[in-house]
Amino acid sequence: MLSRLRKELIYTDTDPDVLEHDDDLDAEMYTYEGRGVYRGRFDPRYTSLDLDVHWLYDENSKRVGLVEYESGDFNKSSVLWYYDNPYSTLLQDPRWKSQGKTLWSMLSEEAYQDCLEDDFKNVIERSLYSPYRLVFPSTYHNPYEVYECSKCGKRTLTLENGCPTMKKVALSYSSLFLDDSFVLYEAPTGSQEPLGVVAKRRQSVLEERLSPLHSPEFQKLEVVSHSESPAPPQLVPHPHS
Ligand SMILES: [Zn+2]
Repeated sequence: MLSRLRKELIYTDTDPDVLEHDDDLDAEMYTYEGRGVYRGRFDPRYTSLDLDVHWLYDENSKRVGLVEYESGDFNKSSVLWYYDNPYSTLLQDPRWKSQGKTLWSMLSEEAYQDCLEDDFKNVIERSLYSPYRLVFPSTYHNPYEVYECSKCGKRTLTLENGCPTMKKVALSYSSLFLDDSFVLYEAPTGSQEPLGVVAKRRQSVLEERLSPLHSPEFQKLEVVSHSESPAPPQLVPHPHS
């Protein structure tokens, strides 16, 4: 879930299970955006960002969202909810829709068998020659880069397996939005392509500021920066793709 108070922050821990620090809590009921929920204790993972984050639970003790407060000013807050699909949850936009079909429905039987043969581990690599870019919720804000050999045309995700004449290339793609089961999702009309530029410097600055807690749970926290320039292209198929 994209934080509204810290635009570099993405809450990636969106499991519905109770968090350890809320385990024995006798939570009180609160109403946020007209919805009655139980509010957990503050989450210590975000204090280094000067955020007071409380997870919200339903009557079955399932996490359904969070409320984030500016630590220095509790009048500044924002509520984020879980939705029924990963893109709506990530972007806090309920207009995303599942297409009810998988990537495999777009492939020939032969291409599907190729993917199956290596256990679906190289699906992205195989897509590099197609007019599509595969986007997953976890990579939405950090799209992969593509390298191409100017001599033989080979394309790779890294320079390691390539020819000596490989160069990073900017190709025109249409994005295919997938979840981890390769189900296809449809972006709302007018939404923007995922941003291709990750501001590395801001990302590392933020990582340094994050809470230095070392449990695996805390290390799951992922921070990605969003760049606002240059303006990303609109989500329409490229005329040359
Ligand atoms: Zn080559």
